[in-house]
Amino acid sequence: MPPLIFRKGLDLRHEVADALAESYHSDLVAQIKDEGYRYTSGRLTIHLAREFGFCYGVDRAVDYAYQARKRFPAQTVYLTGEIIHNPHVNDQLRAQGIRFLSDPGESIDTLTPEDVVILPAFGITIELLQRLESRGCTLVDTTCGSVLNVWKNVKRYADDGLTSVIHGKYWHEETQATASQARRDGRGHYLVVLDHREATVACDYIRGRGDRAAFLHAFEAAVSPGFDPDLHLQRIGCANQTTMLSSESVEIGEMFRQAIRDRYGEADAASRFRAFDTICSATQDRQDAVTALLAEQPLDVMLVVGGYNSSNTCNLARICADRLPTYHIADPDAILSVVEIRHKPVGSKHEITSAGWLPAGPVRVGLTSGASTPDNLVDRVIRRLDRFANAI
Ligand code: SF4
Repeated sequence: MPPLIFRKGLDLRHEVADALAESYHSDLVAQIKDEGYRYTSGRLTIHLAREFGFCYGVDRAVDYAYQARKRFPAQTVYLTGEIIHNPHVNDQLRAQGIRFLSDPGESIDTLTPEDVVILPAFGITIELLQRLESRGCTLVDTTCGSVLNVWKNVKRYADDGLTSVIHGKYWHEETQATASQARRDGRGHYLVVLDHREATVACDYIRGRGDRAAFLHAFEAAVSPGFDPDLHLQRIGCANQTTMLSSESVEIGEMFRQAIRDRYGEADAASRFRAFDTICSATQDRQDAVTALLAEQPLDVMLVVGGYNSSNTCNLARICADRLPTYHIADPDAILSVVEIRHKPVGSKHEITSAGWLPAGPVRVGLTSGASTPDNLVDRVIRRLDRFANAI
């Protein structure tokens, strides 16, 4: 029996709407939006970015997960792993009895046709999908349409004999899923580049300046099996993980275009290079909004709220940190006092505690949150900040 797959919800949207609002909505945030995205209290003024928080893909994924729980009350419902990169949201799903296949002691091999498995917004690899299908369980696929769009492009590259060069993090679930699509039944190839530095190494290789062994060593975990840089960098198509820094993706695409031109000449470049901007519109809107906030408002300090493993949140923090003191916090409790704050500095893997983060006297705080951060967390950040800043 082929597995049952739900891709467009489970017709219970209205039935779960109240539970979703209760878990993630904030009246305070809605009110601040209505009042011009500005909150003033005592010495504190908070300016919210015009776009922040849950994106359409996350909204949909969480909605489908709640619907799945409601539709299958007597069955065991699993997630393959985090549905999105926000600990608060994942904890809420655990609290409803949804289990995580990524947890110790859980295994795909013990799934039965009675079980239900929810696939996350950033998608899963073809191999994992095949394993789940072979267990015959019911699947609720929440893969975001913007991720599917990336897959469409890399599959086309593979069909046309182009190697997919993916600007992304090779360890990120979305990029792993995209890379598996780029393989296209083992026929296609891919190279994942993280940033400008790695793109420079790959572009140098295209120009004939690289060392093969060093290249393969450097990109060991970021290329398709059997990847041969002498063969598979001759014709390339660029794509990106949907949540990367858009300006960097554009720049990296141009670097590869120029490298192909330098190596093969302008006339040949058209058939050897293609690019699609696959940054999703929600990521773009949030990056644009925070850039506008920085340009329009004089700010003393910036708070960015979201999971530390949330790519789009990390990139929002990166944009801000170039301009002013920025604190990426995972939750409201990270604000320890008016003096101390727990946060993850841009580029670091670890959380640290800093002192003296909030200036004395009248203070202007910019605030944004990643696409996987619900408004009720932003609400709690505002209330906590207000309480500390205005404590007498
Ligand atoms: S960040 Fe973009 S691609 Fe990811 S779930 Fe949200 S809308 Fe979809």
